[in-house]
Amino acid sequence: NQSSASKTRDPRFKKLELADVEYFRSILPPGSVLSSPEFKGNSTEQDLLPYNTPVYTSEVGHAQVVLLPTCTLEFTVTLEPIVPQGGNTGTLAGSMTVYDEIAINMSKMNSIRSLDENAGVLVCDAGCILEELDKKLNDHGLCMPVDLGAKGSCHIGGNVSTNAGGIRLIKYGSLHGSVLGLEVVLPNGKILDNLSILRKDNTGYDIKQLFIGAEGTLGIITGVSILAAKKPKATHMVIFCMNSYEKVLLTFKKAKEHLSEILSAFEYCDATSMNITLDTQNKHNTFKKKHNYYVFIETGGSNQQHDQEKITDLFEDLQGSNTIEEGIFAQDSAQITKLWEIREFMILSHNKIGDTYTLDLSIPIDTADKAVQDLKKFLTESKYYDESLPVTNDKFHVKCVTGFGHIGDGNLHLNIVVDKYRHEFTELLEKFVFEYVKNLKGSISAEHGIGLLKPDFLHYSKSSEAIELMQTIKKAIDPKGIMNPYKVLP
Ligand code: FAD
Repeated sequence: NQSSASKTRDPRFKKLELADVEYFRSILPPGSVLSSPEFKGNSTEQDLLPYNTPVYTSEVGHAQVVLLPTCTLEFTVTLEPIVPQGGNTGTLAGSMTVYDEIAINMSKMNSIRSLDENAGVLVCDAGCILEELDKKLNDHGLCMPVDLGAKGSCHIGGNVSTNAGGIRLIKYGSLHGSVLGLEVVLPNGKILDNLSILRKDNTGYDIKQLFIGAEGTLGIITGVSILAAKKPKATHMVIFCMNSYEKVLLTFKKAKEHLSEILSAFEYCDATSMNITLDTQNKHNTFKKKHNYYVFIETGGSNQQHDQEKITDLFEDLQGSNTIEEGIFAQDSAQITKLWEIREFMILSHNKIGDTYTLDLSIPIDTADKAVQDLKKFLTESKYYDESLPVTNDKFHVKCVTGFGHIGDGNLHLNIVVDKYRHEFTELLEKFVFEYVKNLKGSISAEHGIGLLKPDFLHYSKSSEAIELMQTIKKAIDPKGIMNPYKVLP
């Protein structure tokens, strides 16, 4: 979490000058250029803070100029380095300016361009907030094929740029499948109109895929065409509690058998994650501290009674086979929201008790809990941690190590809460975990991307040939390196 300190300013970039900012003022509508007094604006440090504060890191951005375009045509050819920003909810400081790059925040580009209800195709501006899009689609019996805890503030452009996963990936698949087309402003100022609404189009290279997960390093996404899903007529939600991780795995196996096509989420968490969340959110004391593991299961189907029968069958099977200790069933949509809030507030709750590292890993599902235990052992042996102490202790640097995540997709969020981020500890931790993941042939970033914090670790998950090819693509599309510099590539 000290990464920006180690980046040297790219000598190819000229220093941002007042004349540049005045030029932006002359071409953009009033209110679209925020700047500090140094650039003849009246934005204070406080006003610029939302554009300079990435989540869950000690990093702070340095943007003194933020552009807020309102339509694609306002993008101009600029030789300045720029940083695209969505809702700034990304966890790897990908939307943060490192030196005097210009931040381009997409929040004013937030209109729906079209909706084809029959085909379920939505075309919208990249700055639309995910939750708002979902609500709009719900009115038409549709829903977004992606859902995550930051839905109230993240943008669809940010989701596409990070190839966000989230809790429903198990049902709807990755954005590489559901995004049908993109409109992108390229580093040379040209607008790539690839905003297809077609589901099938095998006319050569699928260009849009390059921008999905590129984290703003190849262009600014301004428009998104996406295949919406049918909103389920019946939704059920249950939390099952069990005493061993083997039983989490058995529950997953049985959930797939019983629920099959209606299974729309399968998440897990360990006891410490649950207890921290319940304590800091102050709710659901009924099943607090009684169990070792919890799974969150959601179904989305078309027949209330039929789906209910399937869940009841699953519950009876799990109870009859002594797989679970208890099940908490949501009785209505308000309770579904409340139960989901526990899972959605998990990262935030960890952050309330100390600085938190959330390592977002893809590893074989049967190794997830072992990874948590092995890390605890390593940190205990390294004299950073004592599991027997409460999470509120200030005797050791590490307060707790927890695991939760989208386990149905093999995605573990491995969390380490510390009293304060420290460089030497970060190094020790990352080396141990990333070596561990490499040995399992996993990925050091399942869904959060690489951002500013992880480029030096890309080699743990990508071969040198793959990294070389990524660099070739970057140079071909952005020869001057002005798109989100210092991010993703080593
Ligand atoms: P930002 O944070 O603003 O930007 C992220 C990256 O995308 C940056 O590199 C930025 O430069 C680039 N970018 C943004 N907009 C554009 C654009 N229009 N064109 C080009 N590049 C752009 N992530 C998951 O995958 N799954 C989860 O379940 C999940 N849960 C989360 C829960 C919480 C509470 C929080 C805080 C975060 C969570 N995240 C999750 C991480 C984050 O929300 C996602 O990565 C999200 O997709 C980022 O969207 P954003 O609009 O905030 O992007």
